Amino acid sequence: AKKAGRNRLAEFAPEMTLHIQRRLRLERELRRALETGGLEVFYQPQFDCASERMVGAEALLRWRHPEHGFISPAEFIPVAEDSGLIVALGQWVLEQACREAAQWRGLCGLELSVAVNVSVRQLREKDFLDVVIRTLEATGLPAGQLELEVTESVLMEDVQSAVQFMREARAIGVRLSIDDFGTGYSSLAYLQSFPINQLKIDRGFIESLPGDGTTIVNAVISLARDFQLSVVAEGVENREQLAWLQRAGCTYAQGYLLGKPMPADALRQTMRAHTVA
Ligand code: C2E
Ligand code: CA
Ligand code: CA
Ligand code: CA
Repeated sequence: AKKAGRNRLAEFAPEMTLHIQRRLRLERELRRALETGGLEVFYQPQFDCASERMVGAEALLRWRHPEHGFISPAEFIPVAEDSGLIVALGQWVLEQACREAAQWRGLCGLELSVAVNVSVRQLREKDFLDVVIRTLEATGLPAGQLELEVTESVLMEDVQSAVQFMREARAIGVRLSIDDFGTGYSSLAYLQSFPINQLKIDRGFIESLPGDGTTIVNAVISLARDFQLSVVAEGVENREQLAWLQRAGCTYAQGYLLGKPMPADALRQTMRAHTVA
């Protein structure tokens, strides 16, 4: 058994080393990108289901690597989380997003909100609420137009600090969503103690509408109604899905059908067109 174990290790070691080396390199390059300007925030519009009017946008981080082109956040966010770099990165996104959203009212006359993704590492920072407050003050964005998206798994990882942060954030008027709702092992019992405003249904369920997804999506919508929360469907890609969500009474929709994540100036143009129309 000992021999087999050693052989197996020998087999996997080079692969493992490569994996670790790649992550270390990614981390180094990501740190440099944050310092030298290789990062950009894209914005994906969100719409009211019933009226199909724009209500806001989600801020999504983009990394343009000098050699490899765009690297997906699905790849580099986990690296940033492991290394702790996500705290600085998340702070940078928050500031960009608030500064951008503070200008939207002047552009289209509407009070559009901006949604920013928050990682568990940020929630655990003692001064995160202060960071949020200072960012709102510095950018002039009203607290009610900032929405923080926290994933279900993040909430369950550290319930105590999550609840405390959420209470304080709500008290200053910031809005809170549970992201990827339905994919984790939560949280029905916790829905009562989390002071949230909104559930965001994961794309995986929307994908199979109308079909396998209908039972779960209907359940989430009626759960949200009982708890007086709004619901966002993410990953809406076709008319059929949108029509189904409208009939089911979903509050908001986001997805390629209505608008892809785009650079800030492209969203501004969409906004202008939207208001004229
Ligand atoms: P998420 O928060 O669930 O974001 C939704 C993802 O779905 C985005 O991927 C978006 O581009 C994609 N998407 C939106 N509509 C559609 C659609 O109709 N069809 C399909 N196939 N996809 C759609 P993206 O931008 O690659 O981001 C991936 C994940 O990375 C995000 O998932 C989020 O968890 C994380 N992320 C992105 N930016 C940040 C950030 O600033 N901070 C943190 N902590 N995480 C971030
Ligand atoms: Ca919203
Ligand atoms: Ca999100
Ligand atoms: Ca998702």
